[in-house]
Amino acid sequence: MSKVLDSKIPAGPVPEKWKEYKAHQRLVNPKNKLKLDVIVVGTGLAGASAAASLGEMGFNVINLCIQDSPRRAHSIAAQGGINAAKCYQNDGDSVYRLFYDTVKGGDYRAREANVYRLAEVSNNIIDQCVAQGVPFAREYGGMLANRSFGGAQVSRTFYAKGQTGQQLLLGAYSSLSCQVNAGKVKLYTRYEMEDVVIVDGRARGIIAKNLVTGQLERFSANAVVIATGGYGNTYFLSTNAMGCNCTAAVQCYRKGAYFANPSYVQIHPTCIPVHGDKQSKLTLMSESLRNDGRIWVPKKIEDAKALQAGTKQGWEIPEEDRDYYLERRYPAFGNLVPRDVASRAAKERCDKGFGVNNTGLAVFLDFSESINRLGLDVIMQRYGNLFEMYEEITDVFPGDVANEINGVKYYKPMMIYPAIHYTMGGIWVDYELQTTIPGLFAIGECNFSDHGANRLGASALMQGLADGYFVLPYTIQNYLADQAVWPKVPTDRKEFDEAEKGVQAEIDRLMNIKGKRSVDSIHKELGHIMWEYVGMGRTAEGLKTGLKKMHDLEKEFDTNLFVPGTKEGLNVELDKAIHLRDFFTMGQLVAFDALSRNESCGGHFREEYQTEEGEAKRDDENYFYVGCWEYKGKGNEPELIKEPLEYEAIKVQTRNYKN
Ligand SMILES: Cc1cc2nc3c(=O)[nH]c(=O)nc-3n(C[C@H](O)[C@H](O)[C@H](O)COP(=O)(O)OP(=O)(O)OC[C@H]3O[C@@H](n4cnc5c(N)ncnc54)[C@H](O)[C@@H]3O)c2cc1C
Repeated sequence: MSKVLDSKIPAGPVPEKWKEYKAHQRLVNPKNKLKLDVIVVGTGLAGASAAASLGEMGFNVINLCIQDSPRRAHSIAAQGGINAAKCYQNDGDSVYRLFYDTVKGGDYRAREANVYRLAEVSNNIIDQCVAQGVPFAREYGGMLANRSFGGAQVSRTFYAKGQTGQQLLLGAYSSLSCQVNAGKVKLYTRYEMEDVVIVDGRARGIIAKNLVTGQLERFSANAVVIATGGYGNTYFLSTNAMGCNCTAAVQCYRKGAYFANPSYVQIHPTCIPVHGDKQSKLTLMSESLRNDGRIWVPKKIEDAKALQAGTKQGWEIPEEDRDYYLERRYPAFGNLVPRDVASRAAKERCDKGFGVNNTGLAVFLDFSESINRLGLDVIMQRYGNLFEMYEEITDVFPGDVANEINGVKYYKPMMIYPAIHYTMGGIWVDYELQTTIPGLFAIGECNFSDHGANRLGASALMQGLADGYFVLPYTIQNYLADQAVWPKVPTDRKEFDEAEKGVQAEIDRLMNIKGKRSVDSIHKELGHIMWEYVGMGRTAEGLKTGLKKMHDLEKEFDTNLFVPGTKEGLNVELDKAIHLRDFFTMGQLVAFDALSRNESCGGHFREEYQTEEGEAKRDDENYFYVGCWEYKGKGNEPELIKEPLEYEAIKVQTRNYKN
């Protein structure tokens, strides 16, 4: 290990850390005295909440996003809910328990202190959002309602039907709009950050492209915060919004920010299966459905074959011939095991030939038992919009009775299969959410901070809003306090000139390739390579093959890409080409990290390292660290730098969801 990373975690037993830290804040009072500018890139839940909070605190905020309105950030897609340790159900929940579940759910690869802080501020988030008017579901008596998500045996997920992300984003957006109105936040929609500008070793601004005019523009500030989301679309097909990209994060990585744990990619078990090769998007069926839906495949191989051939339907298979494999394998958590475990179990059944659908690559998610027990009305109140979404896409309504066997009604089950969904890896940040470039901060899904090797359901919204409302606004002040004596740098400095020239040169290069292949055709091929060799099951040999194939395809991209139109004005194909250039860097980084980690943990499953029962086999002796990567130039292998993990409060052990 050549370099040492300072994660700035204050000393003391874990539960005291954050309190101590807060007490040590050197509070800047920008409202009265200082004119400090902060650029916040992104208006998803992390970006919008951070920009609104910083504006409220008196900073001058420049807030950018690629959509035409902050309300259209990818966060709007979040369906199921947001976790908090309120213990409204009196079921034994606590801050410690949420902390413990999250660390265990992450397969003991998260930083303990960060997760504790996250659990501690979780309750404030709910209060904040209720105050904003977010219409969380309520019990009959008026109390906020909860449901359960994977990896927890308590009910701690707050939700607004199947539209939690949308409602939370509307709340954050209203706070943001308030600050825009007050003149503290200046909003730039349809702007894309292309580069970070570094002056004397510190992030001092960005270069952004006006996506409507095609012009490059310069923005200077005392600090830069990126909140630009994850890199799931590297795989082409994913549940992420089509616009999700990793350009800002990858450009920061190229400029010296370390990228942590890129191989930790989450594959979500309950997505609508791929149904053709013309598809460009996959649809998630929220994990919340596993509260009432039971996952199964046929017990008998001949039934599976008949289902695949279309000569039999799921509802014709009687109870005794159904294999509720999650309930069988994991009696303590049943259908609510964490996502990595549920996804692998589905793959195992399908690989053995028990999958359903004409492809054999699907399992059933069945609501018969819960509809019979609770009635369709109750189920529709809980998941109405998800049932409707499923019907719109597949033409099957999961609330339709299809058969009756021995007096028991059977409803049409959903068919689901795992798909790329979320990325736990991201830009490395210290405890203050600062990257390895001073003055550059990363929050929300684009950092690596809290989920270890696997994120538990409903924890991404919690982390994004914790970072934006409650963590960054404190921690950034430590940095800005020193910046108070530094004037903001003018944008006519040579560092801005050079950064802008570099971005322009890249745009010219892509426009001038003038080859024969569209961006999408190459991206789709990259996605196939990623899924095949860097997907749910990885091997050393497969990863090496994947890297070679990516390298060759990147050459094809560099020599045979065709971008129609011009660089002036709106050119969506050009923007996609820039994103694809960065997905190549990202895809290779995921593979390098996966190859270096000779163990299985969470979302990273190396087939060579599994138990006899097919569970992930960790190697804590050799891999108990955060894998951070330093960019070494295009085509070169990045350098691995390790941040050792230290656990004080939680005993590191084998994950067990069986008993
Ligand atoms: C279908 C679906 C359902 C989900 N459901 C849940 C759930 O129920 N609970 C849960 O906890 N999590 C859920 N998640 C995960 C969660 O939605 C995301 O992790 C979270 O919303 C990410 O928020 P973010 O603010 O970090 O990023 P995003 O919401 O992705 O926002 C990124 C922002 O950055 C901007 N941006 C990106 N690149 C640039 C650039 N170069 N320049 C300028 N701006 C840029 C975008 O315009 C956008 O404003 C779900 C995810 C999906 C896909």
